[in-house]
Amino acid sequence: MQIVFQDPYASLNPRRTVRQSLSEPLRVHKAGSRQAIAQKVQRAIEEVGLPQSALDRFPHEFSGGQRQRIGIARALVLDPEIIIADEPVSALDVSVQAQILELLERLKRDRGLSFVFVSHDLGVVRHFCDTVCVMYLGRIIEQGLSGQVLDHPLHPYTRVLRDSSPLPDPKARITLTKIKGEIPAPTNLPSGCTFHPRCTRARPECALQIPALGAMSTSHSVACFYPLNADVEKRIGDSLGAA
Ligand code: SF4
Repeated sequence: MQIVFQDPYASLNPRRTVRQSLSEPLRVHKAGSRQAIAQKVQRAIEEVGLPQSALDRFPHEFSGGQRQRIGIARALVLDPEIIIADEPVSALDVSVQAQILELLERLKRDRGLSFVFVSHDLGVVRHFCDTVCVMYLGRIIEQGLSGQVLDHPLHPYTRVLRDSSPLPDPKARITLTKIKGEIPAPTNLPSGCTFHPRCTRARPECALQIPALGAMSTSHSVACFYPLNADVEKRIGDSLGAA
């Protein structure tokens, strides 16, 4: 398992060349002779679309997108099965984001890699992820196939998140669901469902008990006593089951 960090500027050592940064994990894990390590480093830098000449340069000589490619190459050199990508494109320009996402898609396809992709950008999540877990104050409150969760959210918080994500359609009009209050301090969580002080559907019992994550269909679960779209979800679940 390897990790790609959010900030491609801070996650590379400015005093080391790209070759040194990419070789270090291989040396630490004693991944072969000096020659074998050199070959793996060369393959990794090519795989992320950078030239061999990049290996003897320093991080400040690259753009943000190129640095993120170097971060991805550093994660690839150890041949991981899973990469945790922590907001890997949020610090990049939109056009560069698309290129990095394309690269990650290709790695997913060609290497059979799995990603745990952490993001606040639901457009990116919809594009990249097969399944989604929505978290609120450290707990998973909804989980399921990306299309299901984003098109038919069951948890009121997921719906607010979804509705606050802009649509790439100038004619589209969204009715925003307002969310009241502030995020509570993680050191002083509300009782019961932690979303209850801000939830428009809250009832007295929501403050008394923590809702467990329960399946609404084979591929969609929610932690809420009074979920949205429960009837729609049941119909989708039934049709998936029948298929
Ligand atoms: S359990 Fe109650 S307070 Fe929590 S999200 Fe569901 S309806 Fe709202």
